[in-house]
Amino acid sequence: MDPVHIIGAGVAGLGAAHYLAARGIPSILHETADHYGGRAAAIRQGSHRFEVGGKNFSTAWPRFGALLAEFGISEFEPQHPGFHIVMADRLVALEKSKTLTGDLRLASAIGLRGAFQLRSFLAQARSKAEALNYTAGLIEEVEAEWDHMTIDRHFAPTLVDGPLRLFSIIMGAAEPSELYPSLLMLFASGFGKGQHRAVRGGIGRFHDALAAGKTIRHGSTVRRIHLAGGAVAGLELAEPGGTRRIAASRVISAVPLHVLRQMVDLPAYARVAASAVRYHPLALVNATYDGPVFRDGVHSIMFEPGSILGHCSANRLDQPHHARFTLSGKAAREVLDRPDDWLVEAAEQTFARRMPLRAARQSAHVARHTGGICGYAPYFTKVKRDLLRGVASIEGLEIAGDYLEGHTMEGCLTSAALAVERLLHGGQWRQAA
Ligand SMILES: Cc1cc2nc3c(=O)[nH]c(=O)nc-3n(C[C@H](O)[C@H](O)[C@H](O)COP(=O)(O)OP(=O)(O)OC[C@H]3O[C@@H](n4cnc5c(N)ncnc54)[C@H](O)[C@@H]3O)c2cc1C
Repeated sequence: MDPVHIIGAGVAGLGAAHYLAARGIPSILHETADHYGGRAAAIRQGSHRFEVGGKNFSTAWPRFGALLAEFGISEFEPQHPGFHIVMADRLVALEKSKTLTGDLRLASAIGLRGAFQLRSFLAQARSKAEALNYTAGLIEEVEAEWDHMTIDRHFAPTLVDGPLRLFSIIMGAAEPSELYPSLLMLFASGFGKGQHRAVRGGIGRFHDALAAGKTIRHGSTVRRIHLAGGAVAGLELAEPGGTRRIAASRVISAVPLHVLRQMVDLPAYARVAASAVRYHPLALVNATYDGPVFRDGVHSIMFEPGSILGHCSANRLDQPHHARFTLSGKAAREVLDRPDDWLVEAAEQTFARRMPLRAARQSAHVARHTGGICGYAPYFTKVKRDLLRGVASIEGLEIAGDYLEGHTMEGCLTSAALAVERLLHGGQWRQAA
């Protein structure tokens, strides 16, 4: 049987290969980097294996949970029970287990109007939580009601600069003025649902299990998906030995949308849809110290607007000497092209203004996610419909990735499973589209 060619060995690509293998269908993964895992990779540096992007999962995620069980991975570490947000120059605690407005200290920091707005927004998110996702369709109602304005224009400034900025930085490495409420509501509907955990030993264990037995060609960069008569005909590959063209009739793209746009000629309406989807770059610094940098019950800090640090947290609850500094948001984007040392020192200085650093650095690793995190688009359901219709017009092409079903690892796995379904039952899907 001809293999399915998968472009990209991140969570979505590895997931697609795994779901194909479960049906006895072989695949070849083309991966430009020398490692797999993409934006959720674990990178080796000396004796450390750093998680340089996605690492936390929720026990409420069915696909991720099923794969952990299949792989026999059962040792986990709890994630932070909450955050501290810098508001009006002080650290305000936000506990995940409390309804946000039930937290009196937080309610007093965001004021009556903010607390009321937050309560009603969360109530709406909670009441529809089960059906709120990009597959079920209910999100379209939310988009119609809310997406005419960005988040910052809907809510009180205290709320925007505090808890809502926390969500927008985590969800999209973006400011509230750059994201739309439907994405916020999706996030809020899952907030506090299940428990957030990390894999003991690192997310690399999950990827190792997913990648086992798969054919992965590292250093193989796909430049073009060639089409003939409206169908996939081949791939143009740039490899260490040069550029070559191979025949391929079935391809799953599992690269970010901004990369796919450069590889294939989609119909005009799908190109317009693709250009609406935003990705916001960031850098993640993993740094270890000879003593704790977090203390006094603080494990995770969200910084104020204008700061180059979006967020910083202890790598694990019991690892206060290992900090993950995330340089994200508008101010960070201005400095992302500075040298690594500059970024590390600037991150430390910003952090130290909130929590004095009393330990010496032992190691630092900088990962630049120039593609960053997907911030979706307003009225995303229509955008997605146009994208999928455009892809369906090309026989043998399917898409998976963080820009379709939510930008968590669970969303990537869901998109991979759906891409495999569509690829195998293409005729039906194409008629429906
Ligand atoms: C800092 C950070 C923290 C995050 N935290 C979490 C978290 O805690 N939990 C969570 O669930 N999610 C988290 N996320 C989101 C999650 O990591 C991503 O949504 C997910 O990893 C995206 O996977 P993907 O397979 O869609 O894309 P990618 O991971 O980007 O994979 C695409 C792959 O394609 C390769 N590639 C690109 N171009 C080409 C080409 N031309 N030819 C061949 N290969 C190519 C890339 O090298 C890459 O390996 C985080 C993301 C970031 C950046």
